Amino acid sequence: MMPGVETLSLPARKSAKGTPELDASSFAVCSRHGEPVARRVDMDVKWIPAAPGAGEVFPKSVAKRFADHPFLPVLGTVARLGSAVLIHTSGWPLCAECCRYRARWSIVTRSTLALAAFLFFGALVLRFLIGQQAWLMAPLLLGPALVLLSVLPFVRGSVPRLTGTRGTPDGSAVLVDHPHPAFFAQAGR
Ligand SMILES: [Zn+2]
Repeated sequence: MMPGVETLSLPARKSAKGTPELDASSFAVCSRHGEPVARRVDMDVKWIPAAPGAGEVFPKSVAKRFADHPFLPVLGTVARLGSAVLIHTSGWPLCAECCRYRARWSIVTRSTLALAAFLFFGALVLRFLIGQQAWLMAPLLLGPALVLLSVLPFVRGSVPRLTGTRGTPDGSAVLVDHPHPAFFAQAGR
């Protein structure tokens, strides 16, 4: 067995359109467990710039005045996502365990969303049937809160998180964090 590697760099190619691409269909084991491929997925591996200070998104005078505003970090994140670099990666191998991991988190995400819908629309129907009641505000607020919360299991079960992949700032390579030695033996040559 090879010693563990911190980060493996897989060079990407420029497509005819100039977008970076990586064909991973020649890898026969997954990067997380080193187990044989059960399914292949296409994904966009991203590089997202580090969170800018509010002053980089807004003029300094504006940023200063609204420094404590809760939406500033959100707008900063939107600005960051807008300048993300994507590397289109095709045929990435997932093993049976990877697929089970994704399925588990997908169930958590969908259950959270189903509960959110049930609470919200249930409260709306009750409000229609029995009229406005103070306690009905709880499910009306909890529903949308759960929709926001469902981002957590969604991200947790996402392919980039599972595979440990991220892009380089110039889109020239896909980096794999802590690749399994069996994956490194195939891909790291
Ligand atoms: Zn796996």
